[in-house]
Amino acid sequence: MKAYVDKGTCIGCELCVNICPDVFSMDDDDLAVAIDGDIPEDAMAECEEAKESCPTDSISIE
Ligand code: SF4
Repeated sequence: MKAYVDKGTCIGCELCVNICPDVFSMDDDDLAVAIDGDIPEDAMAECEEAKESCPTDSISIE
């Protein structure tokens, strides 16, 4: 499973980074970016929480 951030709708609130720092970080544009590889097994629950918490619904998990 991989996580993706839609930079077209992300507002850079950093909520996902605070909830799941193993997967999300802020890029040079102050928008969130997800790691390239698979979501680590032990970060999956936090990643799902970040997805559900994103105020602009910018995170997808596939
Ligand atoms: S929670 Fe959503 S809007 Fe906020 S930084 Fe993360 S992806 Fe962007």
